[in-house]
Amino acid sequence: MLEKQLKEWFLRSLKQWHLKKNKRQMPWKGEKDPYKIWLSEVILQQTRVEQGWAYYERFIKKYPTVQDLSQSIDNEVFKLWEGLGYYNRCRNLLTTARMVSNELGGYFPATKEGLLALKGIGNYTAAAIGSFVFGLPLAVVDGNVYRIVSRVLGIEEPIDQPKGKQLFEKLADELLDKKDPASHNQAMMDFGATVCTPKNPRCDACPFAAKCVAFNKAIQYTLPVKAKKVKMKNRFLYYLILEHKNQKLVRKRGQGDIWKDLHEFILVEKDEPADDRFLRRNEFWSKQKLFSANQIQHLSDQMIHQLTHQKIHSRILHVKVDKKINFDGYQWMSASDLNKIAFPRLITRYLENL
Ligand code: SF4
Repeated sequence: MLEKQLKEWFLRSLKQWHLKKNKRQMPWKGEKDPYKIWLSEVILQQTRVEQGWAYYERFIKKYPTVQDLSQSIDNEVFKLWEGLGYYNRCRNLLTTARMVSNELGGYFPATKEGLLALKGIGNYTAAAIGSFVFGLPLAVVDGNVYRIVSRVLGIEEPIDQPKGKQLFEKLADELLDKKDPASHNQAMMDFGATVCTPKNPRCDACPFAAKCVAFNKAIQYTLPVKAKKVKMKNRFLYYLILEHKNQKLVRKRGQGDIWKDLHEFILVEKDEPADDRFLRRNEFWSKQKLFSANQIQHLSDQMIHQLTHQKIHSRILHVKVDKKINFDGYQWMSASDLNKIAFPRLITRYLENL
């Protein structure tokens, strides 16, 4: 249990900073429409504000209400989401929009339990919607909160272990300003994003500096602590674009791997890098004869795409064939149809540069 004096000092310092120094602007800030808050929070899970901002505005323009989103065509929503990654978020977005619209009369639940029952809404998003929209006394606990609390109080308990998670949730709840949870949560998020940042905390401009344990012990760069090291897996994905009269051979990716429901060209995955000579050979791609050497238009340089636990190394061979070939599981699509479907970011980038 934190001392009353410490809590009061923390709340006072945060509040003053929020009122006088917090200049952070975001289109959803102060918003009371649960649909807009929910949408912004789903977009911002694992996405930086700078990147998510434009997506949020595009979504609100195309789907101004939860009913509009619930009536959308899946492929169009995936297309709009293209580039944001973590496509489960997009699937959950559609499921929840349809549930709110069709089963809850268009209203988001105003309780923590009700919000948690919706697909893709965990403790963090429930606390954000609950406090910002309905004024519920729920503390958001995200990376910003872990960082601020661990540093100010000098807590070295790992944040990625159940014991640490429980402890930080309890502390965040104790520190919450229950009279104004919306402003408090917003202040914590903004403070973590602009002052107590992961790499270069601005301790010289910080209202907590006098009593911040991490600053006074000069351990701010080591907090918060994580017990697990992320294991990175290298994958080598090679794509073959077969093109005939402006049509390309494409398939939708299936279950059980990254990029489910996105689209791709003919794929060969290897355990190690393949060099140019192999990539230009027909046999690399299929037992079936797909192209001749003189039909090759372009072989891309290596492209790297970083995911949370995977590093994707990819190259694309682009070939123009003089007749359509049948290839199991793939279909020919025109350029205009290709523009309507979503691809992994590395393929989109390649197509944009064609
Ligand atoms: S003094 Fe530095 S480490 Fe401590 S809360 Fe402020 S910015 Fe973060």
